Amino acid sequence: MAANIISGTEVAKAIREELKVEVAELTEKHGIVPGLVTILVGEDPASQSYVAAKNKSAHALGIHSEQVTLDVDTPEADLLALVEKYNNDPKINGILVQLPLPKHINEANVLYAINPDKDVDGFHPVNVGKMVLGEQCFLPCTPHGILELLVRSGVETSGAEVVVVGRSNIVGKPIANLMLQKREAGNATVTLCHTRTKDMAAHCRRADILIAAVGVPKMITADMVKDGVAVIDVGVNRIGMSSTGKAILAGDVDFEGVKEKASCITPVPGGVGPMTITMLMKNTVQAAKMAANLI
Ligand code: NAP
Repeated sequence: MAANIISGTEVAKAIREELKVEVAELTEKHGIVPGLVTILVGEDPASQSYVAAKNKSAHALGIHSEQVTLDVDTPEADLLALVEKYNNDPKINGILVQLPLPKHINEANVLYAINPDKDVDGFHPVNVGKMVLGEQCFLPCTPHGILELLVRSGVETSGAEVVVVGRSNIVGKPIANLMLQKREAGNATVTLCHTRTKDMAAHCRRADILIAAVGVPKMITADMVKDGVAVIDVGVNRIGMSSTGKAILAGDVDFEGVKEKASCITPVPGGVGPMTITMLMKNTVQAAKMAANLI
């Protein structure tokens, strides 16, 4: 079976077009310009490029965006004061602190200091708790993107056996939770695997939908999946450098082998990756509407 390739690039593009219209309408009808601030501490090149991409994406949609870069030695108290400043800034609807933070800063202290109504990353315990309870909240961007990919690709989740490999707080745990919620893109029977799982291949072979968020290149091989599985590969692993100095990326799934058995599969790059930033934009627009009591 030749798998249908789920293009996150195309799905993200469609959602951005929708958001552009929504932002224009908000601005013209209500005089609201959604605002996002990204805060980066230090000069990690990967973080710099993520932050730049987020700001570029915001600009393209008509979202007001501000970027603050702080010295790597910035004390935690200064960062907390900055977060507080933006908590009280009516022009800013979404606050994103780029992770990871330098070791001397307690990540939880910073994330918990963000006003939950401006927590567009969906990492604040208030939003995590509401997500688990199935209440309206900001969903974390990567799992939110996976839901959109499944829905817009017509993958049926109701009653499906979903196997998630990886239990991180930002991907594995939230996507497992979302898929068992009683609503669209949910109602699945979910298994969550990790390094202590016995016979992971046996679990994976039962999956109608397999979601890999592990960080180990090509770990999921063709012999570990059943025919017709839908595969979402979250992994982004640098496995080398091209002659032009560009990173060569691989997912957590052996794409070439698994695509021969899957009904559909996301590629790396061009699968989940483009969705993550797009869902950040969607959350920022949602935050602006909430602040204006429009939802
Ligand atoms: P993480 O925090 O490192 O968590 C990895 C998870 O995988 C852990 O739960 C770990 O189990 C499990 N694991 C690792 N090796 C395993 C193995 N051999 N067998 C079974 N389970 C194993 O990773 P993450 O932040 O979720 O990211 C996962 C991958 O997704 C990375 O490649 C990352 O770059 C990528 N990612 C992509 C996006 C995107 O937008 N495309 C966003 C976020 C992450 P234990 O808990 O037992 O240690």
